[in-house]
Amino acid sequence: MASTNLLDSRFALLAANIAIVAASTLVGCAADDVSTLGDASALDSESAAGLGLGARGTEVREVYEYLRRYGYFQNEELAAHYADWTPAVSREPADPELFDEALEEGVRLYQAQQGLPVTGVVDAETQRIMKMPRCSHPDYYDPPSVVPTLEIENPYTHFGSTWSSTALTYRFANYTSDFAQASVRSAIESALFSWRSSSSFSFSEVSSGENISFGFYTGSHGCSDAFDGSSGVLAHAYSPGGGLGGDVHFDDAEGWSSAYLETVALHEVGHALGLGHSAVSSATMYAYYTGNDTQLADDDRAGIWSRYAAYASPSGCGSLSSGQGLGAEQSVWSCDGRFQLKYQGDGNLVLYQGGNPLWASGTNGDGGDRVIMQEDGNLVIYKSDGHPVWASGTAGTSNRYANLAVQNDGNVVIYRSGGGVAWASNTCCH
Ligand SMILES: [Zn+2]
Ligand SMILES: [Zn+2]
Repeated sequence: MASTNLLDSRFALLAANIAIVAASTLVGCAADDVSTLGDASALDSESAAGLGLGARGTEVREVYEYLRRYGYFQNEELAAHYADWTPAVSREPADPELFDEALEEGVRLYQAQQGLPVTGVVDAETQRIMKMPRCSHPDYYDPPSVVPTLEIENPYTHFGSTWSSTALTYRFANYTSDFAQASVRSAIESALFSWRSSSSFSFSEVSSGENISFGFYTGSHGCSDAFDGSSGVLAHAYSPGGGLGGDVHFDDAEGWSSAYLETVALHEVGHALGLGHSAVSSATMYAYYTGNDTQLADDDRAGIWSRYAAYASPSGCGSLSSGQGLGAEQSVWSCDGRFQLKYQGDGNLVLYQGGNPLWASGTNGDGGDRVIMQEDGNLVIYKSDGHPVWASGTAGTSNRYANLAVQNDGNVVIYRSGGGVAWASNTCCH
């Protein structure tokens, strides 16, 4: 496992710059032993005034240790288990019991990562967040890419990705006995489906040689990160790669239910696809567990889009299926090569024939970032901040499946799953 990249966080940094809204709640791979910190009186006793520069004592050390555990300061265990990991703060406090500028920098980074006001003071709200269950993976961790660039069949598109293929396989290594096996399978598969709906990934079950393995374990189970029994760490996952890469382990001591498992699986699969933690508290990839929520947020979709900037039709021409889309300067061509639907760097989606525009979304200058054929049947152009600037208005016309076709007759058509036309550019017949 030495070479495996335990997952996480590049998205954290990203999210800090992206204000996005959404309606999901997060989930954690791991809920910390809340008592470890919660019982630590010091944080409680300081809650009125807050803990800041110049403070001294064991409570300062507790803050340091907490931040150290989650990746802000030198930590040999993290360095040993996460490929290329480095602490978020480049210097160490001179004295762990003295709140100096190094610790203040750590607190500021922590607050930024959690979407808190950045004050550098461990105030009541910061303390409250620190006591919540959370994922055990370090903040500000950007796992190395396994495959920097991959060209697929379509010569006009490139993948900048961590998986070398968007067709991933999974396997259930075992099951929890907490509830029915069929329900365990469907909870986890629902989480996979949610990601599939917002990306170009597809997932199929195999009996061996899988990319992503799902398993339930207790205590020490061969990972660096031993499970700690009920209510401690909930689960962990590895970022894309061979061996343990992409694998998701659940702590079988938790007492799982269907919604609980799907919520945690949704977060872990995000890590398995290469995402880190988000600063948006409503996002699935937020580090702290805030309750069951099985919906991805816009922030999560922006994350998967940024991680895998390019999406292309598997066939290489003619269509975009649900969950697929185009990043800047990418195109889908009609299969006869005569028509090019291009998402330009200026934010405009344009249909060309021989260099002449036939149709355009008119969104140039709006700061566009990507266009995606959504699972809900809507073709949407998003700005880099996650807000839509144009849509075909066909949401709901297709449940789960929709297909955008760049046809040889010059027409661009969105077909419903049943085959009916939901939208067309009306540029036939050239
Ligand atoms: Zn996590
Ligand atoms: Zn494990």
